[in-house]
Amino acid sequence: MYCEDGKVFVEKEDQCMSCKNFKKGVECPLLQALGLGMVSLDGVMYVTNCGFYLENKRHLKLVDHDEEIKDEKNI
Ligand code: SF4
Repeated sequence: MYCEDGKVFVEKEDQCMSCKNFKKGVECPLLQALGLGMVSLDGVMYVTNCGFYLENKRHLKLVDHDEEIKDEKNI
């Protein structure tokens, strides 16, 4: 994570990439504080153990196409 020209950039190394708060955009206290200029960030910081982290669980799952066909045909 780093700031440039008043914008906050999150990188793939940051825990934020799988965080529900980041996916929703505005629900992260750290990103809000950085965005509003209440705190500043010099250089690069990787978020690894954030107390506000909420895992973003995916609700989509891969479907086994062959199994579906067997189910449809009652094989
Ligand atoms: S709550 Fe923590 S892990 Fe989640 S987006 Fe904010 S800084 Fe990143």
